Amino acid sequence: MPELPDVEVYKRRLDAHALGQEVARVEVPEPAILRDSSPQALGRRLHEQRLQATRRHGKFLFLRTAGGDWLVMHFGMSGRLEITDCSQPVPKYTDLQLVLGNGCCIDYVAPRKLGFVAVSDDPRRVIEDRQLGPDALGLDADALAEMARGRRGGVKCWLMDQQTIAGIGNVYSDEILLRAGIHPKTAVADLDDARLKQLFDALSQVLRLAIDAGADPTAMPRSFLLPEREQGRPCPRCGGDIKAIKVCGRTAYYCPTCQR
Ligand SMILES: [Zn+2]
Repeated sequence: MPELPDVEVYKRRLDAHALGQEVARVEVPEPAILRDSSPQALGRRLHEQRLQATRRHGKFLFLRTAGGDWLVMHFGMSGRLEITDCSQPVPKYTDLQLVLGNGCCIDYVAPRKLGFVAVSDDPRRVIEDRQLGPDALGLDADALAEMARGRRGGVKCWLMDQQTIAGIGNVYSDEILLRAGIHPKTAVADLDDARLKQLFDALSQVLRLAIDAGADPTAMPRSFLLPEREQGRPCPRCGGDIKAIKVCGRTAYYCPTCQR
């Protein structure tokens, strides 16, 4: 599932290949992906518009046209953004394709239709409507400690709650908790200042390292769980067995030795 690092990598690819370009053509093979818009209405708003800016908040990606519209993208459980030179065949499960003046294609691809694409006049409204918390990369240690004060429940659920912190999901919460040496079911209330600082450091490091690796599991540092995320696989830090448990309705992977 795309989380903050994946979406940040999409943003950087758009910055490199799409900004400054005009939208030459809009194709919507899967109109159900559009929220509050039709393919015709979306086409009218995007056609011949120059792409001027991108923004990311948590797992949301925003792309602004010169006309002032923002294309809003959320990738659900399994969506992705592909930016190609249009010479390859359109990827299977492409829901939306923008063909740009420079010959680049932006393909929004989602095998399971859980994400969506919309148009908004202001990303701030999208963030407010969904009551998203601050972006995980915009936090500092004091802000995280302040947010933890008085919170009930377990730390993994807390990290994954988009209304607390935007951008972290099942995979990267496991990664952060392994690096911080914190068991996923630890109550937030039981984390003292030193543990909260460890959690903040792990959060920042994991997200930045994942972005540096292009959010590609095969390019992650060897200390990462992500390429070995399976019950019984060796912990990348101590070599012990990774265990799976249910936390917040999701399967969490953790190391019983490193995370107490
Ligand atoms: Zn371990």
